[in-house]
Amino acid sequence: MNSDQVVTRFAPSPTGYLHIGGARTALFNWLFARGRGGKFLLRIEDTDRARSTPEATAAILKGMDWLGLDHDGEVISQFDRADRHAEVAHEMLASGHAYKCFATQDEIQAFRDAAKAEGKSTLYQSPWRDAAADTHPNAPYVVRLKAPREGATVIKDAVQGDVTIRNDQLDDMICLRSDGTPTYMLAVVVDDHDMGVTHAIRGDDHLNNAARQMLVYQAMGWDVPIWAHIPLIHGPDGKKLSKRHGALGVEEYQALGYPAQAMRNYLARLGWSHGDDEFFSDAQALEWFDLKGIGKSPARFDFKKLDNLSGQHMAAMDDADVLAGYEAFRNVTGEDMLHPQKRELLSAAMYVLKTSAKTFPQLTEKARFVLADRPLECDEKAQKALDEVSRSILKELTPQLQNVSWDRNTLEAILNGLAEAHGLKFGKLAAPLRAALAGRAVTPSVFDMMLVLGPDETIARLKDAST
Ligand code: GLU
Repeated sequence: MNSDQVVTRFAPSPTGYLHIGGARTALFNWLFARGRGGKFLLRIEDTDRARSTPEATAAILKGMDWLGLDHDGEVISQFDRADRHAEVAHEMLASGHAYKCFATQDEIQAFRDAAKAEGKSTLYQSPWRDAAADTHPNAPYVVRLKAPREGATVIKDAVQGDVTIRNDQLDDMICLRSDGTPTYMLAVVVDDHDMGVTHAIRGDDHLNNAARQMLVYQAMGWDVPIWAHIPLIHGPDGKKLSKRHGALGVEEYQALGYPAQAMRNYLARLGWSHGDDEFFSDAQALEWFDLKGIGKSPARFDFKKLDNLSGQHMAAMDDADVLAGYEAFRNVTGEDMLHPQKRELLSAAMYVLKTSAKTFPQLTEKARFVLADRPLECDEKAQKALDEVSRSILKELTPQLQNVSWDRNTLEAILNGLAEAHGLKFGKLAAPLRAALAGRAVTPSVFDMMLVLGPDETIARLKDAST
């Protein structure tokens, strides 16, 4: 491995769906690595056996797949590496950086009660810290890290700056439990070291852990990765993002019909900025993303902004990409696969659809004139537009459309002529046409619909509506 190659990782705990905050963490790590020709690794932190499920791991992988956050190499299971974690604990024992603690739960509790009564810190101080090996009983023990009791531990954080934690606030943390299983705090450090992680971007809820983890690095004489602890995401009201703010899981956003590239753009802007740029492409994000641009205060989730960016992405995407995204959306929402003929029509209509829809459900609505089959069902508003007068005008129009050159200019001339002959504004004529062609009052322009549908289908629908 190239010694200056960037290696990042995403290390989710598989206890539920891929949370939007987790997705942002993954994206930041992905952007940072991929923008620098580095590696982006995925480690599933499944040491908590009671809470970790294969379904949750599958949901995380699915969410990352949808967002296009591809990782290098195999998915690493933290649980599978337990032997290696234990090995490191024993190395620290051998080097004197850790010790065996034989204290029982009752003893620890008694220590705490006494400390509390005396108004002292209740952080446990084990009497076994400096005990000679020949005083050790033949009893179960945990392995504790010998943390310095004086001075301070300074975390050099790329987002928060230097964060100083007094060592008297850190206890001798347990690295190996009495049943020989490693603790999470040890496992994270060993894994990050063994995986060659150079930069760990993660939620600032892990900042306190970083001080303890730092001691393990020091005990092992390992390089500490560059940490970047990012503020959590808040809801629009400034409170920690929760279910009452709306969707939390990434798959919910997929089901709401946001294209993945819009989601990437929006998530990148949640807590990171590049000047005033709001709308940008993946290529730009990869080029621009850096740790300096990450803000220190929590970003607020804003659905309006997401919608807005989504609309811009939809419009900027290639027609084929919108279609592919739309088909994937139909698939996750359980809708039927598109009939090849419909697919073709949709593809022909995409140039107009993509500029008027911010999300895939909106696109479905705009694409009704393509997706619906004859005879079209009209909604109430469309029904109203098809009154008797309008129907007779459509009846008059139908023969005029026979055997004409089917292009925008010709169609405009015919429809304008008809409107004029009846002393109508074009809008008055457009309403029944929208109803006839789409069964709706709000549609793409009548010319676009006619051009996409072609003469036969257009005339057939006008006949359906006027007879
Ligand atoms: N598994 C932790 C979490 O899901 C992440 C730990 C880390 O990134 O170091 O919050």
